[in-house]
Amino acid sequence: METLNRRSVVDAHVHVAPDQAALMLEIMDAAGLGAVVNAGILEVRGIPFEDGMRAFERVFGERMRYFPTPDFGDTAPGFGERMAERLARQVARGACGLKIFKELGLRHRDAGGDLIPVDDPRLDPLWAKAGELGVPVLIHTADPLAFFRPLDEANERREELQRYPDWHFGKPEFPGHDTLLAQRNRVIERHSGTVFIGAHLGNYPEDLSYVDACLDRYPNFYVDTSARIGEIGRHPAEEVRAFFRKHQDRTLFGSDLVLGWDVFDQGEREDRSEVEAHYEDHWRFFETDERQIPYPGFPIQGRWGVDAIALPSEVLEKLYAGNARRLIPGL
Ligand SMILES: [Zn+2]
Repeated sequence: METLNRRSVVDAHVHVAPDQAALMLEIMDAAGLGAVVNAGILEVRGIPFEDGMRAFERVFGERMRYFPTPDFGDTAPGFGERMAERLARQVARGACGLKIFKELGLRHRDAGGDLIPVDDPRLDPLWAKAGELGVPVLIHTADPLAFFRPLDEANERREELQRYPDWHFGKPEFPGHDTLLAQRNRVIERHSGTVFIGAHLGNYPEDLSYVDACLDRYPNFYVDTSARIGEIGRHPAEEVRAFFRKHQDRTLFGSDLVLGWDVFDQGEREDRSEVEAHYEDHWRFFETDERQIPYPGFPIQGRWGVDAIALPSEVLEKLYAGNARRLIPGL
């Protein structure tokens, strides 16, 4: 779709470390991205917030917005209040949202050693504070269904799980996929004044009717498309197009591009032309009607093709930029 002006596209879900910022800026110009939302990488890399923000501002100016993630290393009593206070300080210093990684619900434990469920009331002050501050929560809960199933011959994500064994949750010590999403939904319901963006199409791209029902039920819930074109594009293109049309005010383009996070890089995305191809593959999926094309990131998420969905330009504009600009302060 040559007529669409992509200069202002917002990638609402990336993880780019400060030492990769200059490369990212070049990629943004080449791919036609106006701005990106960068989530949680400073905390993952152990870079002090202030240093990281300064480094980002120096390179990106206004074209990057940062969402910090809470410190789950401190889960002594009162942790939710402390997380809320820290978020307020970070927003005052330029943070524009909050990022929650999938470890919440799966791995984070309190000081007594118990798993902290996503809907633990001790976190309520944090969710409430985000609403008060007017910043969205980008929340990643659960993961692909296959990650919760036995890791045997029949597991369709076996190749990926063999590469990242830590992502396999099909063991008794982990809550199930449905349990986790139910916990998340209770948080969204309880905090109707807070905007939640469910990463990875709300982490149920395998079942569009489930995501559709969540979006219908919770007006403060939004979803991004990050790292799930491989799943989204497996449904009949007509159904997927209808979903994006119906929820055109609730869906955000995100790619989950990772630069400078060792566990993911493994040398595969260091090359600029590969990253540019990653964006081209997204435009191809959303804008053309080609059948059985490779999804962005093929083949690690499974050896299948996807059907592109040829969204109309008014839907694309909201998906690519409009919704992010409405929800995320400073964009
Ligand atoms: Zn991500």
